[in-house]
Amino acid sequence: MSHLITLNNGVEIPALGFGVFQTPPEQTVASVTEALRVGYRLIDTAAAYGNEREVGEGIGASGLDRSAVFIETKLWINDYGYDEALRGFDKSAGKLGVETIDLLLLHQPLTADFTKTIGAYRALEKLLADGQVRAIGVSNFMPEVLARLLTETDVAPAVNQVEVHPYFAQPSVQQANAEYGVLTQAWSPMGGITSYAGDAGHSTFTDPVIGAIATAHGKTPAQVMLRWHLQEGRSAIPKSVKPERIAANFDVFDFALTADELARIDALDTGVRSGPEPDSITMESYGRDIPEA
Ligand code: NDP
Repeated sequence: MSHLITLNNGVEIPALGFGVFQTPPEQTVASVTEALRVGYRLIDTAAAYGNEREVGEGIGASGLDRSAVFIETKLWINDYGYDEALRGFDKSAGKLGVETIDLLLLHQPLTADFTKTIGAYRALEKLLADGQVRAIGVSNFMPEVLARLLTETDVAPAVNQVEVHPYFAQPSVQQANAEYGVLTQAWSPMGGITSYAGDAGHSTFTDPVIGAIATAHGKTPAQVMLRWHLQEGRSAIPKSVKPERIAANFDVFDFALTADELARIDALDTGVRSGPEPDSITMESYGRDIPEA
């Protein structure tokens, strides 16, 4: 069983979860069911991934009690604004087939229309107060945007989900999160985005430093990267559609990296993100309607 991290509101979240970005709906039920079978208890999806319904079906098919699974999803920017975000919750909960969402995030700051971002966050606060979500948070909030959110709202986010992998570790973002008591949750935790969005010669999976550490422990590069997150106190949500990788990516609780190994992985940070600049997310460039449940 994965270890738990206590969020700033006392709710416990499994440190290691399972992501489903780019998992086609037709593969999502099987992937989620397999992840739950091998021990994951946190599933990270998003309204914009188009597979919330199948995540819900996968959880249902697992035979686990609803309370045994921590469900995390995210509102898309088209559903920002107070009333829109409340409807966005209804859409996500309806597709997931649940009454309560464990952690609901704003997927991106809409910096060009921060009033709508604040409105959406105010809706999250209302959902939290009403018990419809157990925790609330954000994603892709850089420190100055997070600071602004904190001054304009009441409940500090429990989580800030950001791009963190050995090639882009965002230490200043992690530092700001820590100062505000916000858990850093790593997206693309194995640097998958360096493979599928970057050039093939710059993949974390084939990095020689990570490879040497993996060989020393009889583990894979993926397992070493996930262990690095856990030992540095982050939550991580690796994605795979392949059963053997789903299982291997969860098999990270029987070894430990040394302080020197952690430092060698930290030193791989290039400071160059692979994902989009958070400020570049606008309605014009990324807007898309989220269907009703
Ligand atoms: P990951 O670091 O999880 O890498 C996933 C990629 O690596 C996939 O292409 C997968 O392919 C492959 N892979 C998985 N396991 C292994 C392995 N053991 N060895 C070699 N290759 C492997 O990156 P993601 O970008 O997928 O991010 C993970 C999750 O983070 C997402 O699913 C989503 O939940 C979240 N996310 C959030 C974002 C945000 O803006 N908030 C943005 C991006 C991601 P295959 O499936 O074929 O195994």
